[in-house]
Amino acid sequence: MKFRVTVLGAGFGGLELSTLLSEALGDRLDLTLIDQHDSFYFGFSKLDVMFGHQQADAVKIPYRHINKPGVKFRQEKVTSIDPNTRKVTTDKAEYESDILVVALGANYDIAATPGLTQFGNEYYSFEGAEKLRDILPSFKQGHAVVGVCGAPFKCPPAPSEGALMLHDYLVERGLRDACTISLVIPFGLPIPPSPDSSKALLKAFEERNIRFIPQRKISSVTADKKVLLDDGTELPCDLLLGIPKHVAPPVVLESGLAENGWIPVERANLRTKYPGVYAIGDVTSVGTPKAGVFAEGAAVYAAKSIIADYHGKEEAAAYTGAGSCYIEFGKGTVARVDVDFFSGPKPSGIHQEASADLVADKKLFGSSRKARWFGF
Ligand SMILES: Cc1cc2nc3c(=O)[nH]c(=O)nc-3n(C[C@H](O)[C@H](O)[C@H](O)COP(=O)(O)OP(=O)(O)OC[C@H]3O[C@@H](n4cnc5c(N)ncnc54)[C@H](O)[C@@H]3O)c2cc1C
Repeated sequence: MKFRVTVLGAGFGGLELSTLLSEALGDRLDLTLIDQHDSFYFGFSKLDVMFGHQQADAVKIPYRHINKPGVKFRQEKVTSIDPNTRKVTTDKAEYESDILVVALGANYDIAATPGLTQFGNEYYSFEGAEKLRDILPSFKQGHAVVGVCGAPFKCPPAPSEGALMLHDYLVERGLRDACTISLVIPFGLPIPPSPDSSKALLKAFEERNIRFIPQRKISSVTADKKVLLDDGTELPCDLLLGIPKHVAPPVVLESGLAENGWIPVERANLRTKYPGVYAIGDVTSVGTPKAGVFAEGAAVYAAKSIIADYHGKEEAAAYTGAGSCYIEFGKGTVARVDVDFFSGPKPSGIHQEASADLVADKKLFGSSRKARWFGF
C-alpha cells in the first residue's frame, strides 16, 4: 500500500513539502495537495502589481503545471479537518491519510479595523493590491500612511518596502514634494532581529523624508480622512496603504488545532500534538515571522521527520528557524537579511547592503522556486 499524505494549502510550505516527499519517496507516495485557488503567486508580487511593475496575470503560476511522482493537485476548498482521525472534508470530497500536513497560511480580518474597508485600503491581499494599483494614479497630493493594523503580520519588511516604493512612485510622477509619507509599525525598529538592516532602513527613511512611527498600530480609519493609532494619536490620511489584522483560516479555528489563534507545534519537527498531524508556515505559532522563506524552511524539517518515520528511523536535525529575506529598497536596489531565530541565545540577522546585484539574486530566488515546484 502506498504512503498516503494529505497536504492542505499549496503555498510556500505546501509546495516545498510536496516536492521534498516526492523526491524522497517517488511512486511509493500517494500525496494529495489541496488548495482553493488555481494558481500560486509570491507574496512580493503584490507590491509589483500595486505599483504597476507587473501585470496581475503575469505573476500567477497555475497549479496545473505540477507534475511530480506520487503527487496530485486538487483545487478544492477545505471545509473541515478532524485532527484526531486525520479526516479532511472539502467542498468536493473526503480524504483520509497516514500523514496530514496543515499549511493553510494566514487570512486577513479586514473588518477588525473599523473603517479600513470603507475609507482605507490594504495591499496584503491580491485583490487589495489590484485595487490600489487603480487608485494610486489619483493620489496627487496630501498625506499617505503605510500602516500595520495588528501583529503578527506577514513579511515584517513589507511595510517598509511599501513606503520606499511609494516614495519612488511619487518621485517618478513629479509628485513627491506635494505629498508626505508616514510609516506606522508595531515594533521599535523596522527589522527587530537585525540592527544593521534596521539602521539602513531608518537612514533610507530619513533621506527620503519618510516619517517613521514605531511601536504603534492603526486602530481605525475615519470618514473624514484620518487614521487613529492605538495610543489615540490622529493622523491626517489622504491615502492609506494598510496591513490588515491577520487570523488563521476559519477551518483551522473550527478544527480545534489552534490555541491563541495559531497552531502550536514542536519547534524541532513541526509536529502538532495530534499523532501524524504536522503544521507548517504562517498558520503556526512556531516562533519565526510569518514569511515564505520560513514556511519553506519549516517544510524541510517536517519532511525530514515524515521521511524518517516512514523508514522507521530517528529524526536527526532540528529546525533552525533560519531564512533569507530580500528587502526592496527602491531606486532599483534590493537588500538582504539572513536571519536565524533558534540557533543562538536570541534571534540574529546579518545585513547585506542594498545593491543592483541583489535584484538579480531575488529574481533567482523566485525563478528557482518556480522551476523546482512547477518544472519551468
Ligand atoms: C506584500 C507581501 C510581501 C511579501 N514578501 C515576502 C518576501 O519577500 N519573502 C517572503 O519570504 N515572504 C514574503 N511574504 C510573505 C509570504 O507570502 C507568506 O508568508 C507565505 O506565503 C506563507 O506561506 P504558507 O505556505 O504558510 O502560506 P501561503 O503561501 O499563504 O499558502 C496557504 C494556502 O492555503 C490556501 N488555503 C487557505 N485556506 C484554504 C481552504 N479553506 N481550502 C483550501 N485552500 C486554502 C490558500 O489559498 C493558500 O494558497 C510577503 C507577503 C506579502 C503580503
